[in-house]
Amino acid sequence: MSEPWTPASWRSKKAIQMPTYPDQAVLDDAEARIAKYPPLVFAGEARNLKAKLAEVAKGEAFLLQGGDCAESFAEFHADNIRDTFRVLLQMAIVLTFGAACPVVKVGRMAGQFAKPRSEDMETINGVSLPSYRGDMVNGMEFTPEARIPDPQRLIQAYNQSASTLNLLRAFAQGGFADLHKVQRWNLSFVEDSPLGERYRDMSVRIQEALDFMAACGMTSKTTAQIRETSFFTSHEALLLNYEQSMTRVDSLTGNWYDTSAHMLWIGERTRQLDGAHIEYLKGVGNPVGCKVGPSIEPDELIRLIDALNPKNEAGRLTLITRMGAEKIGNVLPGLIRAVEREGRKVVWSCDPMHSNTVKSSVGIKTRHVDAILAEVKAFFQVHKAEGSHAGGVHFEMTGQDVTECVGGGQDIGESNLSERYHTHCDPRLNATQALELAFLLAEQLKE
Ligand code: PEP
Ligand code: MN
Repeated sequence: MSEPWTPASWRSKKAIQMPTYPDQAVLDDAEARIAKYPPLVFAGEARNLKAKLAEVAKGEAFLLQGGDCAESFAEFHADNIRDTFRVLLQMAIVLTFGAACPVVKVGRMAGQFAKPRSEDMETINGVSLPSYRGDMVNGMEFTPEARIPDPQRLIQAYNQSASTLNLLRAFAQGGFADLHKVQRWNLSFVEDSPLGERYRDMSVRIQEALDFMAACGMTSKTTAQIRETSFFTSHEALLLNYEQSMTRVDSLTGNWYDTSAHMLWIGERTRQLDGAHIEYLKGVGNPVGCKVGPSIEPDELIRLIDALNPKNEAGRLTLITRMGAEKIGNVLPGLIRAVEREGRKVVWSCDPMHSNTVKSSVGIKTRHVDAILAEVKAFFQVHKAEGSHAGGVHFEMTGQDVTECVGGGQDIGESNLSERYHTHCDPRLNATQALELAFLLAEQLKE
Protein backbone atom coordinates (compact mmCIF):
# COMPACT_ATOMS: atom_id res chain seq x y z
CA MET A 1 0.00 0.00 0.00
CA SER A 2 1.27 3.43 -0.84
CA GLU A 3 1.18 6.23 1.70
CA PRO A 4 -1.91 8.50 1.57
CA TRP A 5 -1.58 11.71 -0.45
CA THR A 6 -0.90 14.97 1.37
CA PRO A 7 0.30 18.32 -0.03
CA ALA A 8 3.73 17.26 1.26
CA SER A 9 3.78 13.62 0.19
CA TRP A 10 5.88 14.49 -2.89
CA ARG A 11 8.77 15.05 -0.46
CA SER A 12 9.32 11.31 -0.06
CA LYS A 13 9.73 10.89 -3.85
CA LYS A 14 12.56 11.78 -6.15
CA ALA A 15 12.25 15.48 -7.07
CA ILE A 16 14.42 16.43 -10.03
CA GLN A 17 14.97 19.86 -11.58
CA MET A 18 14.48 21.57 -8.22
CA PRO A 19 17.18 23.87 -6.80
CA THR A 20 19.30 23.13 -3.75
CA TYR A 21 19.14 26.18 -1.51
CA PRO A 22 22.17 27.19 0.53
CA ASP A 23 20.23 27.84 3.73
CA GLN A 24 17.35 25.54 4.69
CA ALA A 25 16.08 27.84 7.46
CA VAL A 26 15.65 30.76 5.05
CA LEU A 27 13.77 28.48 2.66
CA ASP A 28 11.52 27.15 5.45
CA ASP A 29 10.71 30.72 6.42
CA ALA A 30 9.75 31.71 2.84
CA GLU A 31 7.54 28.63 2.46
CA ALA A 32 5.80 29.33 5.78
CA ARG A 33 5.12 32.93 4.77
CA ILE A 34 3.67 31.95 1.38
CA ALA A 35 1.45 29.37 3.08
CA LYS A 36 -0.22 32.26 4.93
CA TYR A 37 -0.71 34.46 1.85
CA PRO A 38 -4.15 34.63 0.21
CA PRO A 39 -4.90 32.15 -2.57
CA LEU A 40 -4.48 33.58 -6.07
CA VAL A 41 -7.38 31.63 -7.54
CA PHE A 42 -10.45 29.91 -6.10
CA ALA A 43 -11.30 26.25 -6.35
CA GLY A 44 -14.60 27.14 -8.05
CA GLU A 45 -12.69 28.88 -10.86
CA ALA A 46 -10.48 25.84 -11.36
CA ARG A 47 -13.63 23.70 -11.56
CA ASN A 48 -15.09 26.07 -14.16
CA LEU A 49 -12.00 25.63 -16.27
CA LYS A 50 -12.21 21.86 -15.84
CA ALA A 51 -15.82 21.94 -17.09
CA LYS A 52 -14.77 23.99 -20.12
CA LEU A 53 -11.94 21.56 -20.82
CA ALA A 54 -14.46 18.71 -20.66
CA GLU A 55 -16.19 20.43 -23.60
CA VAL A 56 -12.84 20.60 -25.38
CA ALA A 57 -12.36 16.86 -24.80
CA LYS A 58 -15.71 16.26 -26.50
CA GLY A 59 -14.72 18.39 -29.49
CA GLU A 60 -17.13 21.20 -28.63
CA ALA A 61 -14.55 23.90 -27.87
CA PHE A 62 -10.88 24.66 -28.54
CA LEU A 63 -8.10 25.32 -26.02
CA LEU A 64 -5.75 28.26 -26.65
CA GLN A 65 -2.91 28.20 -24.12
CA GLY A 66 -0.04 30.60 -24.55
CA GLY A 67 2.30 33.18 -23.12
CA ASP A 68 5.90 33.59 -22.10
CA CYS A 69 8.37 30.75 -21.88
CA ALA A 70 9.47 32.43 -18.66
CA GLU A 71 8.03 35.55 -17.09
CA SER A 72 10.69 37.80 -15.61
CA PHE A 73 11.03 40.32 -12.82
CA ALA A 74 12.79 42.83 -15.10
CA GLU A 75 10.06 42.87 -17.72
CA PHE A 76 7.21 43.18 -15.23
CA HIS A 77 5.19 46.02 -16.71
CA ALA A 78 1.49 46.69 -17.29
CA ASP A 79 2.13 47.26 -21.02
CA ASN A 80 3.71 43.83 -21.42
CA ILE A 81 0.83 42.11 -19.64
CA ARG A 82 -1.68 44.07 -21.71
CA ASP A 83 0.02 43.32 -25.03
CA THR A 84 0.27 39.58 -24.39
CA PHE A 85 -3.34 39.47 -23.25
CA ARG A 86 -4.39 41.48 -26.31
CA VAL A 87 -2.72 39.08 -28.75
CA LEU A 88 -4.36 36.12 -27.02
CA LEU A 89 -7.72 37.89 -27.36
CA GLN A 90 -7.04 38.53 -31.04
CA MET A 91 -6.12 34.90 -31.63
CA ALA A 92 -9.23 33.76 -29.78
CA ILE A 93 -11.48 36.03 -31.80
CA VAL A 94 -9.97 34.78 -35.08
CA LEU A 95 -10.86 31.25 -33.98
CA THR A 96 -14.27 32.07 -32.56
CA PHE A 97 -15.33 34.07 -35.59
CA GLY A 98 -13.35 32.27 -38.28
CA ALA A 99 -14.22 28.76 -37.20
CA ALA A 100 -17.39 29.41 -35.16
CA CYS A 101 -15.80 27.54 -32.30
CA PRO A 102 -15.87 28.52 -28.60
CA VAL A 103 -12.34 29.14 -27.32
CA VAL A 104 -11.01 28.45 -23.83
CA LYS A 105 -8.26 30.99 -23.14
CA VAL A 106 -5.46 30.01 -20.76
CA GLY A 107 -2.37 32.20 -20.28
CA ARG A 108 1.12 30.99 -19.48
CA MET A 109 1.07 34.00 -17.19
CA ALA A 110 0.90 35.10 -13.55
CA GLY A 111 3.19 32.35 -12.25
CA GLN A 112 5.31 30.99 -15.13
CA PHE A 113 8.69 31.74 -13.55
CA ALA A 114 10.53 28.45 -12.96
CA LYS A 115 12.39 26.57 -15.70
CA PRO A 116 13.65 23.00 -16.02
CA ARG A 117 17.05 22.88 -17.73
CA SER A 118 18.73 20.23 -19.86
CA GLU A 119 22.13 21.07 -18.36
CA ASP A 120 22.86 21.78 -14.69
CA MET A 121 25.81 23.97 -15.62
CA GLU A 122 26.34 26.66 -18.22
CA THR A 123 29.79 27.29 -19.65
CA ILE A 124 30.84 30.56 -21.28
CA ASN A 125 34.44 31.19 -22.36
CA GLY A 126 35.67 28.35 -20.19
CA VAL A 127 33.82 29.54 -17.06
CA SER A 128 31.14 27.16 -15.67
CA LEU A 129 28.30 28.34 -13.45
CA PRO A 130 25.00 26.76 -12.36
CA SER A 131 22.31 27.22 -15.03
CA TYR A 132 19.71 29.96 -14.80
CA ARG A 133 16.43 28.31 -13.67
CA GLY A 134 14.00 31.20 -13.97
CA ASP A 135 13.60 34.38 -11.92
CA MET A 136 11.76 32.45 -9.23
CA VAL A 137 14.99 30.54 -8.51
CA ASN A 138 18.11 32.55 -9.43
CA GLY A 139 19.31 35.47 -11.54
CA MET A 140 20.09 35.40 -15.27
CA GLU A 141 23.34 37.41 -15.00
CA PHE A 142 26.37 35.23 -15.54
CA THR A 143 27.94 35.73 -12.10
CA PRO A 144 28.42 33.21 -9.27
CA GLU A 145 26.31 35.35 -6.88
CA ALA A 146 23.34 35.68 -9.26
CA ARG A 147 23.20 31.96 -9.87
CA ILE A 148 22.75 31.05 -6.18
CA PRO A 149 19.11 30.01 -5.57
CA ASP A 150 17.40 32.59 -3.33
CA PRO A 151 14.13 31.77 -1.47
CA GLN A 152 13.22 35.47 -1.43
CA ARG A 153 12.53 35.04 -5.14
CA LEU A 154 9.59 32.72 -4.32
CA ILE A 155 7.94 35.58 -2.48
CA GLN A 156 8.67 38.05 -5.26
CA ALA A 157 7.16 35.62 -7.79
CA TYR A 158 4.02 35.29 -5.65
CA ASN A 159 3.67 39.08 -5.47
CA GLN A 160 4.23 39.58 -9.19
CA SER A 161 1.73 36.79 -9.95
CA ALA A 162 -0.87 38.48 -7.71
CA SER A 163 -0.46 41.86 -9.46
CA THR A 164 -0.46 40.29 -12.91
CA LEU A 165 -3.58 38.29 -12.18
CA ASN A 166 -5.28 41.38 -10.77
CA LEU A 167 -4.66 43.27 -14.00
CA LEU A 168 -5.73 40.31 -16.14
CA ARG A 169 -9.00 40.07 -14.24
CA ALA A 170 -9.55 43.79 -14.76
CA PHE A 171 -8.83 43.50 -18.49
CA ALA A 172 -11.09 40.45 -18.87
CA GLN A 173 -14.02 41.88 -16.96
CA GLY A 174 -13.61 45.66 -16.90
CA GLY A 175 -14.43 46.56 -20.50
CA PHE A 176 -11.08 46.07 -22.29
CA ALA A 177 -12.24 42.76 -23.75
CA ASP A 178 -15.62 44.11 -24.92
CA LEU A 179 -16.21 42.78 -28.44
CA HIS A 180 -16.92 46.31 -29.65
CA LYS A 181 -13.20 46.95 -29.17
CA VAL A 182 -11.87 44.16 -31.44
CA GLN A 183 -10.50 46.65 -33.93
CA ARG A 184 -8.52 48.38 -31.22
CA TRP A 185 -6.79 45.18 -30.11
CA ASN A 186 -4.57 45.34 -33.19
CA LEU A 187 -1.03 46.29 -32.20
CA SER A 188 0.55 49.10 -34.17
CA PHE A 189 3.40 47.00 -35.57
CA VAL A 190 0.94 44.37 -36.82
CA GLU A 191 -1.42 46.89 -38.39
CA ASP A 192 0.67 47.58 -41.48
CA SER A 193 1.21 43.91 -42.34
CA PRO A 194 -1.05 41.83 -44.62
CA LEU A 195 -2.17 39.98 -41.50
CA GLY A 196 -3.15 43.25 -39.87
CA GLU A 197 -5.34 43.91 -42.87
CA ARG A 198 -6.87 40.46 -42.69
CA TYR A 199 -7.61 41.07 -39.05
CA ARG A 200 -9.14 44.46 -39.83
CA ASP A 201 -11.46 42.92 -42.45
CA MET A 202 -12.62 40.41 -39.90
CA SER A 203 -13.26 43.11 -37.28
CA VAL A 204 -15.50 44.97 -39.74
CA ARG A 205 -17.58 41.82 -40.17
CA ILE A 206 -17.73 41.32 -36.41
CA GLN A 207 -18.92 44.91 -36.03
CA GLU A 208 -21.71 44.20 -38.51
CA ALA A 209 -22.72 41.11 -36.56
CA LEU A 210 -22.73 43.15 -33.34
CA ASP A 211 -24.88 45.85 -34.94
CA PHE A 212 -27.32 43.18 -36.00
CA MET A 213 -27.38 41.71 -32.50
CA ALA A 214 -27.87 45.17 -30.95
CA ALA A 215 -30.86 45.68 -33.21
CA CYS A 216 -32.21 42.43 -31.76
CA GLY A 217 -31.70 43.78 -28.24
CA MET A 218 -28.33 42.19 -27.35
CA THR A 219 -25.76 44.83 -26.39
CA SER A 220 -22.77 45.15 -24.04
CA LYS A 221 -25.24 46.33 -21.41
CA THR A 222 -27.55 43.36 -21.69
CA THR A 223 -25.13 40.58 -22.57
CA ALA A 224 -22.12 39.66 -20.43
CA GLN A 225 -20.68 37.49 -23.23
CA ILE A 226 -20.25 40.61 -25.38
CA ARG A 227 -18.94 42.78 -22.56
CA GLU A 228 -16.43 40.50 -20.90
CA THR A 229 -14.42 37.35 -21.40
CA SER A 230 -13.14 34.53 -19.24
CA PHE A 231 -9.43 34.07 -18.96
CA PHE A 232 -7.51 31.48 -16.95
CA THR A 233 -3.89 31.20 -15.77
CA SER A 234 -1.43 28.33 -15.84
CA HIS A 235 2.21 27.49 -15.29
CA GLU A 236 4.53 24.51 -15.03
CA ALA A 237 4.30 23.03 -11.54
CA LEU A 238 8.05 22.70 -11.11
CA LEU A 239 8.90 24.15 -7.70
CA LEU A 240 6.81 21.83 -5.61
CA ASN A 241 7.66 23.59 -2.36
CA TYR A 242 6.01 26.74 -3.72
CA GLU A 243 3.02 24.78 -5.03
CA GLN A 244 2.68 23.02 -1.69
CA SER A 245 2.61 26.37 0.12
CA MET A 246 -0.22 27.48 -2.17
CA THR A 247 -2.26 24.29 -1.65
CA ARG A 248 -5.48 24.84 0.30
CA VAL A 249 -8.61 22.90 1.20
CA ASP A 250 -11.70 24.04 -0.70
CA SER A 251 -14.35 24.77 1.91
CA LEU A 252 -17.15 23.73 -0.43
CA THR A 253 -15.93 20.26 -1.40
CA GLY A 254 -13.27 19.53 1.21
CA ASN A 255 -10.81 18.75 -1.62
CA TRP A 256 -7.28 20.10 -2.04
CA TYR A 257 -6.57 22.69 -4.73
CA ASP A 258 -3.37 24.33 -5.87
CA THR A 259 -4.44 27.98 -5.64
CA SER A 260 -1.36 29.36 -7.45
CA ALA A 261 -3.09 29.02 -10.87
CA HIS A 262 -6.20 27.56 -12.45
CA MET A 263 -4.26 24.92 -14.37
CA LEU A 264 -0.84 23.38 -13.73
CA TRP A 265 1.22 21.21 -16.01
CA ILE A 266 4.11 18.77 -15.67
CA GLY A 267 7.04 19.23 -18.02
CA GLU A 268 8.61 16.65 -20.29
CA ARG A 269 11.61 16.33 -17.96
CA THR A 270 9.69 15.73 -14.73
CA ARG A 271 6.91 13.31 -15.68
CA GLN A 272 8.47 10.14 -14.15
CA LEU A 273 5.67 7.90 -12.87
CA ASP A 274 7.34 7.40 -9.49
CA GLY A 275 8.60 10.97 -9.26
CA ALA A 276 7.66 13.88 -7.01
CA HIS A 277 5.92 15.98 -9.67
CA ILE A 278 3.35 13.33 -10.57
CA GLU A 279 2.84 12.60 -6.87
CA TYR A 280 2.03 16.24 -6.12
CA LEU A 281 -0.35 16.85 -9.03
CA LYS A 282 -2.21 13.58 -8.41
CA GLY A 283 -3.80 15.00 -5.29
CA VAL A 284 -5.03 18.46 -6.33
CA GLY A 285 -8.42 19.05 -7.91
CA ASN A 286 -7.26 21.51 -10.61
CA PRO A 287 -7.25 20.58 -14.26
CA VAL A 288 -3.71 19.41 -15.06
CA GLY A 289 -1.59 19.08 -18.15
CA CYS A 290 1.31 16.81 -18.98
CA LYS A 291 3.86 17.37 -21.72
CA VAL A 292 4.42 14.32 -23.88
CA GLY A 293 7.54 14.10 -26.06
CA PRO A 294 8.40 11.74 -28.93
CA SER A 295 10.16 9.11 -26.79
CA ILE A 296 7.06 8.01 -24.87
CA GLU A 297 5.63 4.51 -25.48
CA PRO A 298 1.87 3.97 -25.68
CA ASP A 299 1.86 1.77 -22.53
CA GLU A 300 3.75 4.39 -20.58
CA LEU A 301 1.27 7.03 -21.70
CA ILE A 302 -1.66 4.96 -20.44
CA ARG A 303 0.03 4.55 -17.05
CA LEU A 304 0.67 8.28 -16.92
CA ILE A 305 -2.97 8.99 -17.71
CA ASP A 306 -4.14 6.57 -15.02
CA ALA A 307 -1.83 8.15 -12.45
CA LEU A 308 -3.09 11.67 -13.14
CA ASN A 309 -6.72 10.94 -13.95
CA PRO A 310 -7.69 7.68 -12.20
CA LYS A 311 -11.41 8.48 -12.35
CA ASN A 312 -11.19 9.11 -16.12
CA GLU A 313 -12.91 12.50 -15.80
CA ALA A 314 -13.15 14.56 -18.99
CA GLY A 315 -11.42 17.93 -18.53
CA ARG A 316 -9.09 16.81 -15.76
CA LEU A 317 -6.15 15.92 -18.02
CA THR A 318 -4.71 17.66 -21.05
CA LEU A 319 -1.96 15.84 -22.95
CA ILE A 320 0.32 18.46 -24.44
CA THR A 321 2.19 16.67 -27.22
CA ARG A 322 5.50 18.19 -28.33
CA MET A 323 6.83 15.86 -30.98
CA GLY A 324 8.52 18.08 -33.55
CA ALA A 325 7.32 18.65 -37.10
CA GLU A 326 9.31 15.67 -38.37
CA LYS A 327 8.29 13.08 -35.80
CA ILE A 328 4.66 13.87 -35.07
CA GLY A 329 3.30 11.92 -38.05
CA ASN A 330 5.07 8.74 -36.91
CA VAL A 331 4.55 8.95 -33.17
CA LEU A 332 1.16 10.52 -32.51
CA PRO A 333 -1.10 7.95 -34.27
CA GLY A 334 0.07 5.10 -32.02
CA LEU A 335 -0.54 7.17 -28.90
CA ILE A 336 -4.02 8.22 -29.99
CA ARG A 337 -4.91 4.62 -30.83
CA ALA A 338 -3.82 3.42 -27.38
CA VAL A 339 -5.87 6.14 -25.66
CA GLU A 340 -8.93 5.40 -27.81
CA ARG A 341 -8.58 1.64 -27.33
CA GLU A 342 -8.43 2.07 -23.55
CA GLY A 343 -11.32 4.57 -23.55
CA ARG A 344 -9.41 7.29 -21.71
CA LYS A 345 -10.87 10.80 -21.80
CA VAL A 346 -8.22 13.42 -22.47
CA VAL A 347 -7.80 16.77 -24.15
CA TRP A 348 -5.18 16.55 -26.91
CA SER A 349 -3.23 19.77 -27.22
CA CYS A 350 -0.29 20.52 -29.52
CA ASP A 351 2.84 22.32 -28.34
CA PRO A 352 4.57 23.02 -31.66
CA MET A 353 7.43 24.90 -29.99
CA HIS A 354 9.53 22.67 -27.77
CA SER A 355 10.63 20.00 -30.22
CA ASN A 356 11.27 22.49 -32.99
CA THR A 357 14.04 24.42 -31.24
CA VAL A 358 17.26 24.76 -33.24
CA LYS A 359 20.53 26.67 -33.04
CA SER A 360 20.93 29.33 -35.73
CA SER A 361 24.19 29.43 -37.67
CA VAL A 362 25.49 32.03 -35.21
CA GLY A 363 24.53 29.89 -32.23
CA ILE A 364 21.31 31.66 -31.16
CA LYS A 365 18.45 29.41 -30.02
CA THR A 366 15.54 29.87 -32.43
CA ARG A 367 12.49 28.21 -33.99
CA HIS A 368 11.27 28.31 -37.59
CA VAL A 369 7.70 29.52 -37.99
CA ASP A 370 7.36 27.03 -40.88
CA ALA A 371 8.22 24.10 -38.59
CA ILE A 372 5.78 25.37 -35.95
CA LEU A 373 2.95 25.65 -38.46
CA ALA A 374 3.88 22.27 -39.98
CA GLU A 375 3.60 20.52 -36.60
CA VAL A 376 0.20 22.13 -35.99
CA LYS A 377 -1.06 21.07 -39.44
CA ALA A 378 0.18 17.53 -38.93
CA PHE A 379 -1.49 17.46 -35.50
CA PHE A 380 -4.85 18.25 -37.14
CA GLN A 381 -4.27 15.76 -39.95
CA VAL A 382 -3.40 12.91 -37.61
CA HIS A 383 -6.43 13.56 -35.40
CA LYS A 384 -8.67 13.70 -38.44
CA ALA A 385 -7.31 10.38 -39.71
CA GLU A 386 -7.75 8.75 -36.28
CA GLY A 387 -11.23 10.16 -35.69
CA SER A 388 -10.14 11.96 -32.49
CA HIS A 389 -10.37 15.66 -31.58
CA ALA A 390 -7.51 18.08 -32.10
CA GLY A 391 -8.39 19.91 -28.89
CA GLY A 392 -5.99 22.79 -28.57
CA VAL A 393 -2.59 24.39 -28.88
CA HIS A 394 0.06 25.37 -26.35
CA PHE A 395 2.61 27.92 -27.50
CA GLU A 396 5.14 30.54 -26.43
CA MET A 397 4.45 34.10 -27.54
CA THR A 398 4.62 37.72 -26.51
CA GLY A 399 2.81 40.87 -27.52
CA GLN A 400 6.17 42.60 -28.02
CA ASP A 401 7.72 43.01 -31.47
CA VAL A 402 10.58 40.60 -30.80
CA THR A 403 12.81 38.80 -33.29
CA GLU A 404 13.24 35.39 -31.69
CA CYS A 405 11.62 32.95 -34.17
CA VAL A 406 12.64 33.03 -37.84
CA GLY A 407 10.24 33.20 -40.79
CA GLY A 408 6.63 34.24 -40.86
CA GLY A 409 5.01 37.21 -42.60
CA GLN A 410 7.70 39.70 -41.54
CA ASP A 411 10.28 37.28 -42.93
CA ILE A 412 12.62 37.47 -39.96
CA GLY A 413 15.96 35.98 -40.97
CA GLU A 414 18.79 34.56 -38.88
CA SER A 415 20.64 37.84 -39.26
CA ASN A 416 17.70 39.70 -37.64
CA LEU A 417 17.61 37.51 -34.51
CA SER A 418 19.98 39.66 -32.48
CA GLU A 419 17.94 42.84 -33.15
CA ARG A 420 15.23 42.27 -30.53
CA TYR A 421 15.98 38.97 -28.82
CA HIS A 422 14.59 39.53 -25.31
CA THR A 423 13.42 36.14 -24.03
CA HIS A 424 14.67 34.87 -20.70
CA CYS A 425 14.55 31.32 -21.97
CA ASP A 426 13.05 29.96 -25.21
CA PRO A 427 12.31 31.91 -28.43
CA ARG A 428 8.71 33.15 -28.61
CA LEU A 429 6.37 34.02 -31.47
CA ASN A 430 5.81 37.74 -31.77
CA ALA A 431 2.32 39.18 -32.27
CA THR A 432 2.41 38.95 -36.08
CA GLN A 433 3.62 35.35 -36.01
CA ALA A 434 1.02 34.46 -33.38
CA LEU A 435 -1.77 35.91 -35.53
CA GLU A 436 -0.48 33.87 -38.44
CA LEU A 437 -0.80 30.77 -36.29
CA ALA A 438 -4.36 31.80 -35.35
CA PHE A 439 -5.46 32.16 -38.99
CA LEU A 440 -3.98 28.74 -39.78
CA LEU A 441 -5.80 27.23 -36.79
CA ALA A 442 -9.09 28.76 -37.91
CA GLU A 443 -8.67 27.17 -41.34
CA GLN A 444 -7.86 23.78 -39.83
CA LEU A 445 -10.79 23.96 -37.44
CA LYS A 446 -13.21 24.87 -40.21
CA GLU A 447 -12.31 21.82 -42.29
C1 PEP B 1 8.14 24.80 -21.45
O1 PEP B 1 6.92 24.65 -21.66
O2 PEP B 1 8.68 25.91 -21.36
C2 PEP B 1 8.99 23.58 -21.36
C3 PEP B 1 10.14 23.59 -20.71
O3 PEP B 1 8.46 22.54 -22.03
P1 PEP B 1 8.85 20.99 -22.04
O4 PEP B 1 8.64 20.49 -20.65
O5 PEP B 1 7.85 20.43 -23.01
O6 PEP B 1 10.26 20.88 -22.52
MN1 MN C 1 9.86 26.99 -23.11
